[in-house]
Amino acid sequence: MTMLAVSIMVEESSAEAALAAAARAAEFGADLVEYRIDRIADDIDTINALLSRTPLPCVVTCRPTWEGGEYDGNDADRMSLFEHLGSGPHPPAYLDVELAAYERSANLRQKVGFAVDHPDQQRPLTTGLILSSHDFDRRPKDLLQKIAKMAEARACRVIKVAWHARSLRDNLEAFELIEKKYKPTIALCMGQFGLPSRVLAKKFGGLLTFAALDAQSATAPGQPTIDELKNLYRWDAQRGSTRVYGVIGWPVGHSMSPPVHNAGFDAVDEDAVYLPMPIPPEYEHFKATVGSWLDHAGLHFRGASVTIPHKANLLHFVEESGGEIEPLAAAIGAANTLTKREDDSLYASNSDYAAALDSVCAALDIEREGLTGKQIAVLGAGGAARAVVAGFADAGAGVTVFNRTPEKAAALAERFQAAAAKPEELRDLPWDVLINCTPVGMHPNVDATPVLKSDIEHRKSQTTNQPVVFDTIYNPIQTRLLRDAKAAGCLTVPGTEMFVRQAATQFELWTGKVAPLEVFRSVLESRLT
Ligand code: NAP
Repeated sequence: MTMLAVSIMVEESSAEAALAAAARAAEFGADLVEYRIDRIADDIDTINALLSRTPLPCVVTCRPTWEGGEYDGNDADRMSLFEHLGSGPHPPAYLDVELAAYERSANLRQKVGFAVDHPDQQRPLTTGLILSSHDFDRRPKDLLQKIAKMAEARACRVIKVAWHARSLRDNLEAFELIEKKYKPTIALCMGQFGLPSRVLAKKFGGLLTFAALDAQSATAPGQPTIDELKNLYRWDAQRGSTRVYGVIGWPVGHSMSPPVHNAGFDAVDEDAVYLPMPIPPEYEHFKATVGSWLDHAGLHFRGASVTIPHKANLLHFVEESGGEIEPLAAAIGAANTLTKREDDSLYASNSDYAAALDSVCAALDIEREGLTGKQIAVLGAGGAARAVVAGFADAGAGVTVFNRTPEKAAALAERFQAAAAKPEELRDLPWDVLINCTPVGMHPNVDATPVLKSDIEHRKSQTTNQPVVFDTIYNPIQTRLLRDAKAAGCLTVPGTEMFVRQAATQFELWTGKVAPLEVFRSVLESRLT
């Protein structure tokens, strides 16, 4: 069973604080703590207090500066300390020693050998030796040689390698190293690309993954918190068969999709987890990363949400791979959903336009057929507008595009048999539904609005129907445009509705189950307010 270990950097003379942190880790459900004693290696009283009173089994690590830690003493003293701890009255479950130190001299190896349990050990010791190697820049060229040395060292019970990932592909090698099962293995990638190796260590049967108690106390770059692992990335539900999904973008750190989809998987008890997948903008990166993730049989990577700047890259990729493309996604020139179907074929589709249609239909309490002949005013001519214009035009509505750059409005309108007009003409043109697809009014410019309140009031005064105002912006949820429209007596639709519904379409494609819309809404709203 893969353990969840919380790493604690112990401050000078503060056994109490470290023990309190360990107790909190135990409450959160950690299996193990790692005491990083880099700063207190000469404070034997504090170290003894930790070992005698630790609420969880522990790893003791005293990482030297030359391997990214803070211990600046010599190796002989460090190994003498370890010898003392391993053979003392409260031995730790594991001692972590860098391969480089272990290889440095027979004397050091002998000291380590006296501290831990191994096949040639004469004394009844229990502590296991973790031999470790870290590279904070890149995958070391001699990674496999290092692992071979750790595997061969008779005193070594656990192999640990950690390196700074240069792309999401590095995670695949970490998974493969765990799967080789030379010995119990910890293989972790550091940095923004390394999260999958940390979250999916359990799926692949790694010995453990490390988590921080909170965002401020991470002991390695990219280390998630225990709360994120447990409550966001579904640690407890993870198994070898768990399917992997993600949101591909650059950047993706801000994305609301992981909390929304993971809560959905939880709600319908789906054996799946959803991760952020940062991929740099160029098509080559997209192709290489997505291709390798799809090809990795053990990963069970079955689909992704795809956002800026990769929506066109997805179409290109699926086309090149011989997959199927939803016709309207091809017409829009952008897809936001990748699905690997049960027969392993690829499907690229666009869930944005359907989400926009369904959000408006729900507000009007009509089916999509009811949109025929409705007059739709679309503000903006960018990516979101393209999907909205394509969807409403396809549904038989009369669409007019208003944009500050008239040429872009004209080009978009022409592509989908819509009309184009200048923003100042909005007041005089009748509309049933107004959709804002510009970022005007988005956080932090929350006092801005793309339409004058008087223009909305004017429109309301001219029709017996209740006009609909739909803002695709979802941060804030109630934009100034929506507040003005509500005050004028219009029906209003927030951007959260579109976000939730585009996620629901993806969820249903991937799982074959009805998406829990209410769960999606409450997760999104709780994160936005
Ligand atoms: P985009 O491709 O950059 O297009 C932005 C459009 O807004 C362009 O047509 C641009 O006009 C116009 N615009 C930008 N700043 C403006 C200003 N100050 N005044 C007037 N017009 C302005 O962006 P996008 O991807 O379409 O996204 C637009 C909005 O849609 C964002 O706010 C985003 O939050 C929202 N969105 C929501 C969802 C959802 O699920 N709810 C999904 C996607 C997008 P020019 O053509 O003249 O440059």
